[in-house]
Amino acid sequence: MIINLISDTVTKPTPGMLKAMMSAEVGDDVFQEDPTINHLQEKLADLFGMEAGLFCPSGTMTNQIAIHVHTDRLDELICDQSSHVYRSETGGYAANSGVAVKLIDGDHGKITVDQIRASINPDYDWVPRSSLVVLENTCNFGGGCYYTNQEIEPISQLCKEKGLALHLDGARLFNALVESGDDLKDTGRLFDSISICLSKGLGAPVGSVLLGNQSFIKQARRVRKVRGGGMRQAGYLAAACVYALDNHVERLREDHVKAKQIAALLATKPFVENIRPVHTNILIFDVAEPYTADRYLAELKQKGIIAAAFGPQTVRFVTHLDVTEVMMNRLMEVL
Ligand SMILES: *Cc1c(COP(=O)(O)O)cnc(C)c1O
Repeated sequence: MIINLISDTVTKPTPGMLKAMMSAEVGDDVFQEDPTINHLQEKLADLFGMEAGLFCPSGTMTNQIAIHVHTDRLDELICDQSSHVYRSETGGYAANSGVAVKLIDGDHGKITVDQIRASINPDYDWVPRSSLVVLENTCNFGGGCYYTNQEIEPISQLCKEKGLALHLDGARLFNALVESGDDLKDTGRLFDSISICLSKGLGAPVGSVLLGNQSFIKQARRVRKVRGGGMRQAGYLAAACVYALDNHVERLREDHVKAKQIAALLATKPFVENIRPVHTNILIFDVAEPYTADRYLAELKQKGIIAAAFGPQTVRFVTHLDVTEVMMNRLMEVL
């Protein structure tokens, strides 16, 4: 038995999901004629009270399209220094859109309205024009902590006041929402665009959706095409995403409970220190010397548990749909 805690991207389709995929009605999505993709896009747009959606192969693509549509060359985007758009998208903001980035040293990935206000450039020819703020919810490298709508409200206000667009990298937005209990339509009102991954904790094999208003999504569709992301009968994939939304949202709470249970056990171990507070399905901790992350992970691997190093002493566990009760018991026993 392999227990894979590397990421919540490792889940495989459940039998129910596969059945939904196999019986999907499909068409050519480049002509916007795939009924299952159209349904997925409308369903998510409706949930968040936004006008339209766009199905894409990955969350990197939805983020990169959003950056491209919201900015011009010589602009600057503002984000936390640990954000995915900065750290894990191969520098795409520069390569794809020719924009600079202003990094904020946030609190576990969360940035405040005052930090953003202080990061907006004055209108001089010699500085890039601040035109976009990107928030991440939950914060992946921040250890899975989340913003509430109440915390985002002043940021949204500031962006409106100053004429900046506000994009949400909501790769794990539903993990945040099941914890905060916030209203989805209120979240939708706060942002100009939202990217949501169905292939993380929600358990679909492939797929992210970008939400925004009609003119934004029309432009986004063109950018998706030029990046090679226009797919044909991809309704088979969208069917998995629809299934995930119908069946796997509420259960995200179970992943959060599991992460907290693991943290509680680790807290009693002499070889563990600095367990970051667990908010959702991500658990980050340091191993004590003489352990290093690599040595600890090698020992876990021998016992069938796979996880990722997050620094010389730092380890990350991510809980997800494919961590069964049996696996959980085995994991606790090994730890
Ligand atoms: C996974 C992830 C993405 C998108 O990643 P893809 O692998 O391209 O789908 C974006 N943002 C965050 C915070 C993520 O964790």
